[in-house]
Parts: sequence; structure tokens; C-alpha cells
Amino acid sequence: MLFFLILIPDLNNFEHTVFVHVIDQCSQDSKLVVAIIDDILSRLKVYDNSIQQACIRCDNAGCYHSAYTALSMPALSEKCGIAIRRMDFADPQGGRGSSDRYAAIMKSHVRRYLNEKHDVTNAEQFVEACLSYGGVKTVNVVEYISVNDECTESIDQAANIFECPEEACISSFVKYGNLLRHLAIGNHRHIPEKVTLMDTAKKMFHTRLSNADNKRVISLSSNDVVLDSNNCDQVPELTVGWALPVTRPPVRFTNKQKKFLDEKFNDGILHGRFWKPETVVSEMQNAKSSQGKFIFDIKEWLTTSQVRGYFSRIRSIITQKNAQFSSSTSSSNSVCAESEQEEGQDLDEDASAEESLKDDVAVNEAIERITFITETNQMVERASKEKRPLSSIQNEQKTQKRSTSTQSQKYS
Ligand SMILES: [Zn+2]
Repeated sequence: MLFFLILIPDLNNFEHTVFVHVIDQCSQDSKLVVAIIDDILSRLKVYDNSIQQACIRCDNAGCYHSAYTALSMPALSEKCGIAIRRMDFADPQGGRGSSDRYAAIMKSHVRRYLNEKHDVTNAEQFVEACLSYGGVKTVNVVEYISVNDECTESIDQAANIFECPEEACISSFVKYGNLLRHLAIGNHRHIPEKVTLMDTAKKMFHTRLSNADNKRVISLSSNDVVLDSNNCDQVPELTVGWALPVTRPPVRFTNKQKKFLDEKFNDGILHGRFWKPETVVSEMQNAKSSQGKFIFDIKEWLTTSQVRGYFSRIRSIITQKNAQFSSSTSSSNSVCAESEQEEGQDLDEDASAEESLKDDVAVNEAIERITFITETNQMVERASKEKRPLSSIQNEQKTQKRSTSTQSQKYS
């Protein structure tokens, strides 16, 4: 916040000075404006005791243009010994005031300080920045160490007797019972330490580094790019239709991939909760054999839509089979129907992808495996018909989070 003043000690001798009030945290309201005017007038009176009158010019912001500010002027005049004769407001659209001009100068001064790798995050550092290199000419910087905070702190110290014995905890209480409750809960309050940007950057760098070895690093293949250093002007010619969407050839899944996906699917059926394709993809990318090697090569990774399409194909085949069996309304049917509804919108998205894969050999092989799946379905059905205690079923559902480490040993 800036206040720009022109002093006229002598008609032939103009002098001007600028006050910058830097406050850490406060609401910019009329009370603050009155406090700052009070401070400036008091300082001026100390500077030159002969000053008797003052005129104030502000812009049209609500904090200046309010009854509270205007009505405080007589009291201020009396207190400081300088009569405030006028209070003018800048016309709307009247251009920027002289204070704004100085604000721009101060900002550029601070920005230069910032560019020298200094932090300017609070009032103290801002004042430091303003005063760097001798400061700006005719500018006085006043830092307020937040008067409000001092008041509340002293009140707190007076009122709150019982302080938390925990180290670095700032809680204190009026009643002993509250302290006991605080200690029992253990919800200690700590003042956050000042963290510089450099510290934050280092922490981020460390976390990225520590997480890095879990992921495989994909190196850019330099084979694709052949640059002739002697012939930089040469631009590779584009073939006709280079911007058209590329039609992908139908992908055939390897046995390893199918086995992995089937296991995930059967696992979902057995436990009544299906694996999400996204999870399957990430499991696939991170699955390691017992020797610590990755099971799947990068070329063997599948996309989410591929996994989803594969699952939905198996599922539709199962429902068809179940319809053929036309057994009594079983629980397994209802499970399949539900999952069909859940994945309905996904099927629409992947309809085209599915079409291209429809003649995939995988489908035929999946049909062969149906016998196994239907058997397991019937097992589930039988199990559900038997009256089991609810707790046992719940326990089963709780143990659904499994790691693939046990399964992965089968690959290697
Ligand atoms: Zn505490």
C-alpha cells in the first residue's frame, strides 16, 4: 500500500516523499486506511513541526470512499495536530495516480532483487528487497510487525494457562481438562517451518528419484531418427495421405498375455469383483518373476481398451453359454448381468476396436476355456445356494486385495 505526499514547507520549496506500508496479513479496509493515515501524519509532524494542514487524495476504492474513513478525519486531525482540510477522490477513469506510478517503480525494484535468487515471500523479505541497493529515492518503507497479532498473542498468553508439554506443539488451554483431552487425542498443532523454494525443489527431486527405480525407463530409440549433419536443409518428403488416421492391424495376443488376462478374469469371477482394466494394465507392466525380471516386455504391454475388449468378449461368451444352459435363475447369471450393465458404456466406446478383433483367434480359444469358467460358475452358484454365514462371505470380499507375486511365479 502506497501513500504519496507532497509537503509544502515553503511556497518556493517543494519536497515530496513516499511512504510504503508493508503488512504481512491484513484485510484492506477503512480501519487500515485510517491507521496508516494516522501513522503518516504522526511521522510528518515529527519530521517538520510547522506543518499545520493536509489534503488527502485517494482513488475510489471502497476502503477510502467510505463513511468510516471520512468520519475519522476530524479525530485524526485532532490527534496528530495537522488539520485535514480536504479529502479528494480521483475521478473514475481519471488515469492512474502518482502513487500507482511509484508502485510500479517499487515492483520493478523488488523484481530485480527477486531475479538475484532471493526469496520475497513475506513482509520482512519485501522490506529487505525494497531497501536493497540503497532503496528507491525518496521512498520510506515502514514494516508493521502486525499489531493485531501482538494483541492476540498477549491475550492468549494471559488467558491460556495450560500449555501442551509436547515439543513443538503450540496448543494452550484455559482449562486443565481440555489439556488432558488434547493429550489423550494427540492432535498436536505445529507451526509450519518456513520452507524455501529451494527446499521444496530438493524434496520433490528426492521423491521423484526414490520412486524412479519402480518404473521402467523407456529410452528413445535413436534408430528412427537419422540426422545428416551436413545436410540440415534436407526435409524428409511426406507420403500421400500422411495425415490420415492410421489403421491398426488386428493384434493377436500371445499365450502369455492370454494366460495373464484369463487369470485376472477368473480371479474376478471367483471373488465376485472384477479387476479394472487400468489395474490389470499397470499390473502387467510391473509384474516380475521370481528372479526379479519383468514378465512382459514393453512390446507385450496391452492398452486399457485392449484388456477391456478382451474381458467383455469373454463375458459375452459366458452369458451366451449360460443362456444355452438355461438353468434356473442362478446367482452367477445375475453377476454377469450386473457386470454387463456396468461395462455397457465401455462396450460402446470399444465397439470399433472389438469389431476389428472379432475374428481374432483368441475368441475361439476363449470358447474352449469357457468349460472351465462355467464350471467355476456352477461352483459359485452351489456355494451361494448353500446357506453360509454372512461373515464368511464378507471375509472373502475383504481379502480381495492381492498381490500378483504368488501368481507371477508361474511365468518366469
Ligand atoms: Zn499438543
